[in-house]
Amino acid sequence: MKRIGILTSGGDAPGMNAAIRAVVRTAIYFGMEVYGIERGYAGLIDDVVVPMNMRSVSNIVQTGGTKLLTARCMEMMTREGQQKAVDTLKKHGIEGLVVIGGDGSFRGAKTLSDEFGVPTIGIPATIDNDLEYTDYTLGFDTAVNTCLDIINKLRDTMTSHERICIVEVMGRHCGDIALYSGIASGAEIIVVPEIKFSMSDIVERLNRSRGSGKHSNIIVVAEGAMSADEFAKQLQESTTYSVRPTCIGHVQRGGSPSMADRMLAAQFGNKAVRLLKDGVSNRVVGIHNNKIIDMDIIEAVSMKKTFNHELYETLQMISM
Ligand code: ATP
Repeated sequence: MKRIGILTSGGDAPGMNAAIRAVVRTAIYFGMEVYGIERGYAGLIDDVVVPMNMRSVSNIVQTGGTKLLTARCMEMMTREGQQKAVDTLKKHGIEGLVVIGGDGSFRGAKTLSDEFGVPTIGIPATIDNDLEYTDYTLGFDTAVNTCLDIINKLRDTMTSHERICIVEVMGRHCGDIALYSGIASGAEIIVVPEIKFSMSDIVERLNRSRGSGKHSNIIVVAEGAMSADEFAKQLQESTTYSVRPTCIGHVQRGGSPSMADRMLAAQFGNKAVRLLKDGVSNRVVGIHNNKIIDMDIIEAVSMKKTFNHELYETLQMISM
C-alpha cells in the first residue's frame, strides 16, 4: 500500500491529534504517503483532501480537538454519498483509510470496506467510553480528569456552605464518565443510566452520611440518567439540605490530552497503519487487559456495552 487517507469523524475527543500524528509518522516510516481528509465523511464526499507530511503533525501531540476538523454527515448514510466518498479516494489514489471516531464512524468505515472494497481501519475516539470491545476509548481519560478538576473545586465551596452539589457529566447513554469521576473524586453517590435509582434511597443515604458527621456531599449524575437541574429540583423537594446543580458541559470535550490518552493514541495510530501495511483491513484497534488488540469492525460495533457493576459496588462501599 503506497498511499493512505485519514479522517476524524463524530464528536471530537482529546487524543485525536496525537492519533493523527502517530498515523502520519508511522505511514511515512513505512514509505507511504498520507492524505488528510477534513471534516470527516463530509470532506471525503466534498473532496477536501490535503497531503500531509512530518511537519503537518508537529506540535499537535499536546492539543485537544482535531486538526483535521470533524463533522456529522447525513449524506454518508446514502448510497450516493458513499459513492462520492469512494470517487474521492480513487481520484487521489488513496488505497486505504484510517477512520478515527466512535461507533457511527466505524459503521461508515464498514460500508466503505464491505460494499466498495476500500481497506479501512478504525481507531476508537470518544469521551463516552461507550464501546464494549475496547477497555478505553481515546479522550475518556482526559474527560474524566477534567471532571475531577472541577469536582475538586466544587467540593471546596460545597464544604464551606455545607451543601449538596449535583454534578452533571457527559456520556450520553453510557455511565462510565460518571462512574470513574465519581469514584476518583470521592463522590458520595453516582446516578447512571444503567442502574435504576429511587430518590428516597438517595435521601436515606444522604441522611446516613450527615448522621455520621458529614456536612456536604457530591452527587455525580450522568446526562443519560437525568439533568443536574431536574435532579436537584426533585432532591430539593425531598430534603431540607441546601442543594446546588452544576452541569460541567462541553469543557469535558476539550483540553490537552492526558498521558494515558497520548499513550493510547500513539499505540492505536501505529497499530492501525501496520495493519494496513500488512494487508489487513475492516478492523478496529483497541486495548484489552493492557494489550493493544484489533477486531473485525462489525463484531466490534455489534457488541453491547456492559456496565462495570463491580466498580459501582466499590463506590457504594467506600463513598460514605
Ligand atoms: P461519537 O460517539 O463521538 O458520537 P460517532 O462516530 O459514533 O462518534 P456518529 O454521529 O454516530 O458519531 O457518526 C459519525 C458519522 O459517521 C455520521 O455523521 C455519518 O457520516 C457516519 N455514519 C454513521 N453511521 C453510518 C452508517 N450506518 N453508514 C454510513 N455512515 C455512517
